[in-house]
Amino acid sequence: VHFPIQGGLFDRVLGRPAGAVRAVDGIDLSVGRGEIVALVGESGSGKTTVGRVITKLAQPTGGKMLFEGRDMTSVQRASALRPYRHRVQMIFQDAYQALNPRHTIFDIVAEPLRSLRLVDNRKQLADRVSEALASAGLNPPGDFFARFPHELSGGQRQRVVIAGALAVKPELIVADEPVSMLDVSIRAQILQVLVDLRHKHNMALLFITHDLPLAWLIADRIAVLYLGKLVEIGSADEITFQPRHPYTVALLNATPQMGGDAGRAEVPALQGEVPSAARVPKGCRFHPRCPLAFDRCRQEEPPPIEVGPKHLAACWLAN
Ligand code: SF4
Repeated sequence: VHFPIQGGLFDRVLGRPAGAVRAVDGIDLSVGRGEIVALVGESGSGKTTVGRVITKLAQPTGGKMLFEGRDMTSVQRASALRPYRHRVQMIFQDAYQALNPRHTIFDIVAEPLRSLRLVDNRKQLADRVSEALASAGLNPPGDFFARFPHELSGGQRQRVVIAGALAVKPELIVADEPVSMLDVSIRAQILQVLVDLRHKHNMALLFITHDLPLAWLIADRIAVLYLGKLVEIGSADEITFQPRHPYTVALLNATPQMGGDAGRAEVPALQGEVPSAARVPKGCRFHPRCPLAFDRCRQEEPPPIEVGPKHLAACWLAN
């Protein structure tokens, strides 16, 4: 998927008189076959909006979204969208909400296969459901067919959500905070399922998270989003060990697992929250929270600057 947004992506914000704000603006992101890209940002950064646009749950008002070279931005008709929905699946963070409590696990995993008309008979349907449950680590699959979501643990429910996405054999999965509601002890197992899928099926994964250390563990590349803009993108190692944007540095310094502030630039911990997307600051949008801000930052927005091979940072100090 190539996602070059020159204009804006607008998202509805309840309670705002204007009804909509520019939630994501001018980002350029691509995910290759067999690649894991992590999209990292605090709450309010617009990362979920990007996932919703890619999976056609939200419609952008500008820019383009290319899937294997084809512009999917304006495709709206259900019949034209069916092949795309087959190839691109989304995993949500809340397995409690994602699973219909009145449906059996078999029916939940079978539903996309039925609605996308991907099987011809019951035997094929049962085989595909079994295969998906096994790939998500629910074994033996037959033991889960007749059970209901409330009979499963939180980790098992999230595996069912993953199985539902896998059943259609997608080429891209967008996983929005897929482990954030699970116990720490289960997280590693679920992440391993996602990493294995990439190896087994050469699948692309866009992993949306607020957790930079987790992004480093799972991803090949990391894109850091701040108030709807990509502020830094590069390999997972470069972003983690040689970050060039003060926001990325501050996120890492705030993370004890990543060694605190050892060896990094002097950037104090982040103060305050991401401002509202309805009131994006002039100039560099990070400047009200940036301890390194100077006059130019308050006036001019920095463009993405190449700071290494395939490593971009949008900061006047990155030069
Ligand atoms: Fe901070 Fe200025 Fe760089 Fe923005 S451009 S991150 S305000 S130093």
